[in-house]
Amino acid sequence: MANIVILGAGYGGMAAAVELEKSGLPFTLVNKHDYHYFTTLLHEPAGGRNEFEQYYVNLHDVLRRESSLVQKGMVKELRPKENKVVTEQGELSYDYLVVALGNAPEFFGIPGMKEHALLLRSLETAQQIHDHVERAFASYHQDQDESKLRILVGGAGLTGVELCGELAEWLPELAGQYGVPFSKIELINIEAAPTILPMLSDELREAAESALRKKGVKLLTGVAITKVNRDQVELKTGEVIDAKTIIWTGGVRANPLIAEAGLQTDPRGRAMVNEYLQSVDFSNVFVIGDSASFTGEDGRPLPPTGQAAAQMGDHAAQNLTHILQGRPLEPFRFVNMGTLASIGHEFGVGSVKGLNAVGVPASLMKEASKVKYLWSLGGLRMVSLKRGQLKRKGS
Ligand code: NAD
Repeated sequence: MANIVILGAGYGGMAAAVELEKSGLPFTLVNKHDYHYFTTLLHEPAGGRNEFEQYYVNLHDVLRRESSLVQKGMVKELRPKENKVVTEQGELSYDYLVVALGNAPEFFGIPGMKEHALLLRSLETAQQIHDHVERAFASYHQDQDESKLRILVGGAGLTGVELCGELAEWLPELAGQYGVPFSKIELINIEAAPTILPMLSDELREAAESALRKKGVKLLTGVAITKVNRDQVELKTGEVIDAKTIIWTGGVRANPLIAEAGLQTDPRGRAMVNEYLQSVDFSNVFVIGDSASFTGEDGRPLPPTGQAAAQMGDHAAQNLTHILQGRPLEPFRFVNMGTLASIGHEFGVGSVKGLNAVGVPASLMKEASKVKYLWSLGGLRMVSLKRGQLKRKGS
């Protein structure tokens, strides 16, 4: 029996593992945590919408076959020439490898960003943002330092915009809870490009901008952050803004282990893959998700999204099954299901299968996509398990 190792239990690695289970193939999944969290929803618990437990599933609740081995630990190194990976536990050999190690933050060399900004990348960092904001509000009365009530979010891609939408609904609640003056709260989203959400149509973008503004978010577009100091951001315009909470959502690049392994990469450090999702350097290594540079139908690399990662994971596992059954490999085709951005819990913008949606309908579609995703992991059992945990914070 072939020895298959999957690295990473994000959207790509999970999809690959679930598909291999369906084919009855044994594998070892190595992941930093013994759970899978929902990266594209992290703004919700960070902004206090629901309890954190709703945003992850334990790997053993999804992968239930005895032949599916889960190894908790960090991957340290890929050694594709030796068919080995090095993890915290030691070396692991493989016949076939699926690399689904996700991304790393892109700081674009902005001085001080790495040292001073919070990030929204994991359950831990979402909790950090949540607790940091709450602490700042809770301690406002000690010194009346107004920068404690100012929150700067750098980058207005989907992560930044969805986080701002969520924070905008939570901050007034917090203000009430800690008795801080509502009028002094400032939530500022700073974007270097001329517009927010460049991937959306003008109509959707304008709807998103207007919804954010109505919720009290200040949008500064066409303004790059050039430096970050402790509790302070410097802008290209020369303006300096003091804020106790600085959050960076300015973009991602591939996990650095890819380039360190000597695989051919694109400028964002993503491994070049062929039409079957195999590394162009090693045919027994599949690379998927944010770590892979796969050229889409428009001739450009697919952007690093959860839906692309999940589709690639599914496909890589199917191609692996084909190899082991001596059948020809199938080329990967990305099916764009659309993009949905929530702006708070009752408003959204997006397009699904070419149809635009704004407001509550988009929000409902986003809720439906969450259920669909849970279903893909474990059918009705998984939907019941996680939706049963649905509760608002503090309820
Ligand atoms: P992104 O790269 O999409 O957006 C980052 C933004 O930061 C850009 O608009 C960029 O212009 C801006 N920026 C960069 N440098 C700056 C600077 N110095 N000052 C101010 N602004 C600066 O990153 P993201 O939003 O984290 O998204 C990463 C990927 O994940 C994307 O492909 C996105 O589509 C995907 N994603 C999807 C969802 C969803 O489907 N709901 C949610 C989150 C992320």
